[in-house]
Amino acid sequence: MRIEANRDVCVSAGMCVLNAPEVFDQDDDGVVELLSAEVPAEQVEAVTRAVQVCPSGALRLSG
Ligand code: SF4
Repeated sequence: MRIEANRDVCVSAGMCVLNAPEVFDQDDDGVVELLSAEVPAEQVEAVTRAVQVCPSGALRLSG
């Protein structure tokens, strides 16, 4: 599966990093950065949680 992050709507809450630190990071301004757009099978559950708790709706899982 693939993850997309819309940096224009991200509000730097950091919930994604908290839930899936192997897939998400934040830049110096706190805006989300993807460590990997391809989500390994063992990370899908954590990334799904991150998508659900992201307050801005910036994250989308597809594929
Ligand atoms: S949880 Fe959502 S709003 Fe917060 S840093 Fe991650 S992508 Fe941005």
